Amino acid sequence: MGGWKDLEEERLTQLNYAVGIIVAAKVAVRCEAHGTPIRNPDVDEKEAYKVGNAKLSRGEFKGIFTSSRQMTDAVKDALDDQIYESCGLCDKMLED
Ligand SMILES: [Zn+2]
Repeated sequence: MGGWKDLEEERLTQLNYAVGIIVAAKVAVRCEAHGTPIRNPDVDEKEAYKVGNAKLSRGEFKGIFTSSRQMTDAVKDALDDQIYESCGLCDKMLED
């Protein structure tokens, strides 16, 4: 059975899906040029959990999230680590 590496891969997959949920809920919008997910202050974080649960109950996350708890944990982590205040690549271009 899987070791650390598989667990890490599974987690990254879950985080990717979580970012997708967050974007689908419009809690973040992707930079048009770079795809960087940027926090949308107009939409409450709770929307991401709502959208995630709706998708989960429609069976959209088979093999990704086995429970609502797993999904909400991943969304929470993604909001902390994967969603940015602004697009770093755009900021860099503006500086140049
Ligand atoms: Zn950008």
